Amino acid sequence: MSTETERRDEVLSQSPVGFIDLRSDTVTRPTKAMRSAMAAAEVGDDVYGEDPTVNLLEASAAQIFGREAALFVPTGTMGNQIAIRLHTQPGQEIICESRAHIVDWEMAMAAAFSGCQFRAVAAERGIVTWKHIEPAIKRPTFNNAPTGLISLENSHNMAGGTVTPLAVFGEIWNGAHEMGIPLHLDGARIFNASVALNVPVAVLTSGFNTVMFCLSKGLCAPVGSMLVGSRKVIERGRMVRKALGGGMRQAGVLAAAGLIALEEMPKRLADDHANARYLAERLSGLPQIELDLLTVQTNIVIFGLKERGKAEELVLRLKQRGVLCGTVGRNSVRFVTHHDVDRAACEEAARIAVEEIGKL
Ligand SMILES: *Cc1c(COP(=O)(O)O)cnc(C)c1O
Repeated sequence: MSTETERRDEVLSQSPVGFIDLRSDTVTRPTKAMRSAMAAAEVGDDVYGEDPTVNLLEASAAQIFGREAALFVPTGTMGNQIAIRLHTQPGQEIICESRAHIVDWEMAMAAAFSGCQFRAVAAERGIVTWKHIEPAIKRPTFNNAPTGLISLENSHNMAGGTVTPLAVFGEIWNGAHEMGIPLHLDGARIFNASVALNVPVAVLTSGFNTVMFCLSKGLCAPVGSMLVGSRKVIERGRMVRKALGGGMRQAGVLAAAGLIALEEMPKRLADDHANARYLAERLSGLPQIELDLLTVQTNIVIFGLKERGKAEELVLRLKQRGVLCGTVGRNSVRFVTHHDVDRAACEEAARIAVEEIGKL
């Protein structure tokens, strides 16, 4: 065997193809329709504003969210960090939930890029209410860093994909608007929340100044997220995106997939939610684990292991049996359902997980 063939076989043996991959909905591959649309996409230089497919995607996102404008960004992290930069001044605080993505998974960029610190509040099942936020707000004084932004997450990833209802947001929007504090939504999975609540995204997000959402998770696009807001804020966002190195050129090949993600894919998310529910119910009675079924509202299942420090071991055992999942800290495990894992695969994963958890 040539070394080249050996190398290829080695790479293939590491490839997750053939595994039941429940690590994240980010692992979804572009659909056939997306591949065709990408191949046929009309493109131009988007930094000059001349990519017709990107322009169409931005117009479509703005319309679906009932906003003046939208910006296509390479990642959700960049979308959130652009928003933080736009709304804050250095030396301010950002109020968010204690397990928020912007706190734990964005490389401390709120500090490094915008000069802000977090005032994190812990909320049961990740559902932040005005009662959590109001006492954490600080007005400008000579003693304290003032609140510059309130940033919320819906669905809440690390709380298990939990969903904040519209009425809870309504109270927060009223309170924050009265005090003149801007609001950002990390809506990486806002379409999952929208499907779970049966409320259109435009309604569910209407009180936020800006909303970031991902095309590349459960919606199956290969790359890309959107930031939506007023024309003025998005124009400034375009400059910040360039500053971060996010000015892409013939990005229409990506936007073509994004358009299908945005317009076609939300309607099938209910299947992912049903599969997550199925997995959770299969596991929930096991004496080795702690699973709060009330957190299983969308496409995420997080459960704790009663014997501490065993999460990594369980993930490895499942991997040996062809099921991929991830840890959350040292004691918890996360499964995420998505387009590329159907009910039959979830049944198989549940059967294997029940066996392996039983051996712990
Ligand atoms: C995935 C995710 C993001 C963005 O992640 P990227 O990998 O940068 O696209 C932001 N917020 C939440 C809650 C997420 O789950």
